[in-house]
Amino acid sequence: EEQGGEVDRALEELRGRLAGSVIEPQDPVYDEARAVWNGMIDARPRAVIRAGAVGDIDPVLHTARRTGLPLAVRGGGHNIAGHGTVEGGLVLDLGQLRGVEVDAKNRLVTVEPGATLADVDRATATHGLAVPLGVISATGVAGLTLGGGVGWLTRPNGLSLDNLASADVITATGEHLRASEQDNPELFWGLRGGGGNFGVVSSFTFRARPLPAAVLGGNFFYRPTHWKSALSAFGRWTQDLPEEMNPIISFLVLPPDLEMGEEPWMIIGFAWASENHQPGLELIEQLRAAAPPDEEEVAPTAWLQWQSAMDSLFPKGSRGYWKNLSFSRLDDVAVDVLVGFASEVTWMGTGIDIHHMEGAFGRVPEEATAFPNRSAKYWLNIYGFWHDPAEDERLSAFARKAYTLMQPFGEHGEYVNFLGAEIGQDVAEAARQAYGPDTYDRLVALKNRFDPDNLFRLNHNIVPTSG
Ligand code: FAD
Repeated sequence: EEQGGEVDRALEELRGRLAGSVIEPQDPVYDEARAVWNGMIDARPRAVIRAGAVGDIDPVLHTARRTGLPLAVRGGGHNIAGHGTVEGGLVLDLGQLRGVEVDAKNRLVTVEPGATLADVDRATATHGLAVPLGVISATGVAGLTLGGGVGWLTRPNGLSLDNLASADVITATGEHLRASEQDNPELFWGLRGGGGNFGVVSSFTFRARPLPAAVLGGNFFYRPTHWKSALSAFGRWTQDLPEEMNPIISFLVLPPDLEMGEEPWMIIGFAWASENHQPGLELIEQLRAAAPPDEEEVAPTAWLQWQSAMDSLFPKGSRGYWKNLSFSRLDDVAVDVLVGFASEVTWMGTGIDIHHMEGAFGRVPEEATAFPNRSAKYWLNIYGFWHDPAEDERLSAFARKAYTLMQPFGEHGEYVNFLGAEIGQDVAEAARQAYGPDTYDRLVALKNRFDPDNLFRLNHNIVPTSG
């Protein structure tokens, strides 16, 4: 009881120091405030602290250190493993700090830590600029960037973190540091892939790229009987594909209101993000000739529309369990395995995406950032997004099974932003596996320096060895 009283006092003092608010279990908005994207995560924090200004970060870190309560830091709340919340602890929710400033002349975009992809896209599009981000617009820029950031501009421009120019960081001990190639370069290295392990990022500055008036976007739809030939054709098409062409394959059963039947489709989606559409149309024609689609849609599309086209499939509160794997072989053996489990996707649902990587993403040297594996040609994401709790076990098992079947083709490295929570997993071992031994050891050295007591542990955690 004494300890509870101490926490009550600390929270009361905190309340007085904040521009934002402290939300506790008795508060009417508590249930809304504790919810994260993944509906399977049902943690009840001691308090959710909604930052009302960047200045609120320091007092929250102080309160976490003082009370010893576990601390979760939340940006957009989309983390699949549920790292945006914590049972019985404190949540620092940055979700209301959504300001975006565009310096059009220098093509620099400064983003507050609670901004979503939509916030950034809207602000930059009016200046004819874009920051490479992900494909679902409600996702948080903060978590996306600190782990990677893969989307429709990855081949022409690299990951979100490859376009990060600098970040302002508040460390576990309350130091305020700027991280960039010039300032604290080792911290800057670790932030780009190492997630929130070293501090709270209070501001991100990105380099933006020019945006064409419209992207040439489209989808080729294939029925199951055509999957093998279409996948093989895709493998040939991606042997030396110009990097302005960014394709993502999805295996999905489409929502009933689209009236596309109950069978799964293989959909080759593509975006050609260049002003001159003609070369893009020619590349699309090559694919069409090699693998005639059963249905298709190809049209110049405004960037904001393209970036939010899939949002309705992934509403907040969906239940999710995801897996990710890098691979480079798309030969007959791999195609057979892929087609085998892809034919089991259901609505609602499971889905599988294959991203074609390389291009600007692949040119970044492996040791330049903490992001693992720049050499893989393809990426596999196996994901669930369902609503019925009774499906949790079956659909999570599907993701695990598909992952296991693809493992013989897998290469080193896993995308930490797509990993679910694994019960009973050895945390340090999981991080070593995701990052690979060299990057992992370098991350541990950085963790020892900036967060030796592991204040920031609700992430893909780098366990310090000097605490
Ligand atoms: P949060 O849960 O808020 O945070 C994620 C992690 O980052 C936590 O560990 C948190 O502590 C840490 N963190 C957050 N803010 C800060 C900060 N300011 N300082 C320090 N640490 C911080 N990824 C892609 O690359 N491309 C995609 O297209 C894509 N699509 C997705 C679609 C959906 C529907 C979902 C659910 C996820 C998608 N993801 C995608 C994965 C996404 O990158 C991760 O879920 C990411 O963690 C989301 O970041 P967030 O800020 O929303 O999450």
